[in-house]
Amino acid sequence: MSAFVPLKAVQLPLIKPRRRTREVKVGDVGIGGNNPIRVQSMITAETMNTQAAVDQIIQLYEAGCEIVRIATANLREAQNLGEIRKELQRRGYGHIPLVADVHHQGTEIALEATKHVNKVRINPGLFVFRKPDPTRVEYSPAEIQQELEAIERALLPVIKACKERGVAMRIGVNHGSLSERIKVMYGDSPVGMVESAMEYIRICEAHGFKDLVISLKASRVPIMLSANRLMVQRMDEAGMDYPIHLGVTEAGDGMYARIKSAIGIGTLLAEGIGDTIRVSLAEDPLNEIEVCYDILQALGLRKTKVEYIACPSCGRTKFDLPTVLNQVREATKHLVGLDIAVMGCIVNGPGEMADADYGYVGRGSGKIALYRKGQLVKNDIPAERGVEELIALLKADGVWRDPPQSSSDNPAKD
Ligand code: SF4
Repeated sequence: MSAFVPLKAVQLPLIKPRRRTREVKVGDVGIGGNNPIRVQSMITAETMNTQAAVDQIIQLYEAGCEIVRIATANLREAQNLGEIRKELQRRGYGHIPLVADVHHQGTEIALEATKHVNKVRINPGLFVFRKPDPTRVEYSPAEIQQELEAIERALLPVIKACKERGVAMRIGVNHGSLSERIKVMYGDSPVGMVESAMEYIRICEAHGFKDLVISLKASRVPIMLSANRLMVQRMDEAGMDYPIHLGVTEAGDGMYARIKSAIGIGTLLAEGIGDTIRVSLAEDPLNEIEVCYDILQALGLRKTKVEYIACPSCGRTKFDLPTVLNQVREATKHLVGLDIAVMGCIVNGPGEMADADYGYVGRGSGKIALYRKGQLVKNDIPAERGVEELIALLKADGVWRDPPQSSSDNPAKD
């Protein structure tokens, strides 16, 4: 019989180590390599409305958005990116990394955009666009070759401009906009999404351009998961190390959109896949930023706020736990880096919060106890003095600092 190995002795990684990727610079912000997982969003203001676009870019940046994308539907909008950049510079925000989002017939638009932004996102399904013929069921080898040559002709000037101007490129495939040829060849499937990206990557590599970020987005979580896993497998087989941008596109709004995004993005991050994320909400894009940071914090990938651990309370709880949790949060939420637990009873509370830095545990009869790293520090504290005593303990331990005066809190700056 083999020897019994105590579970504690078996060291399992908590989440899979992050896949090794090259660093791609978007202005001063690096994606991939040893950089933290980057948080991105996209403005909803019209690109031609320079003041509104700039206001929103600054708002997003101040909220912690590290890279901001702008819809760039035509040449006029691409030209106006120059005005947006100038206005950002005038207001002291010229350094914010900007991305032009380019779709249909993108060569001229992307070329102009490279003069003003730090990254161009192109959509392989639309970059060289031909109206689909729904009756079509096959492509001859000659037709496939012709189309690949047309893509290369269209992409080459953009590759050259990106190289000359130090601009990165995202090859951003969307499940909903695969080209007709890809759908005929590989199906409307994760395989088609991966092949669509690979065609563009090969062209970029053939012309010595490797400042690439890859994304494969779908509104269905299982498709997005499958496509990204397959993409990583294909890149590994080909010796490619491009960073991956993750997102569940058209996730909708409210709670369900957040759940979909957290499952899609979080699952892949837990598998070590992903270097930058965007949560796409049909809401004010400002709302996306907190969700991104919460996903990263929940996985222990970026810590930008206090981690609160709290039990749901039950019949053993002798105080109003949600109210106390709120009081503790209000008093301590600026202490980024700490784990603070609020637990309802002495029976299970101390065990469940053993790895928290500090614990506030209800004892019944109007008393609470305070813990540090699972060890009882002070007992029988009247509940009405609980929060005050917790602060006193944090001060005595030297981990307290006074709350900042300004209400602006940018998690990326912590
Ligand atoms: S920690 Fe105690 S009060 Fe909280 S849910 Fe568990 S048993 Fe109930």
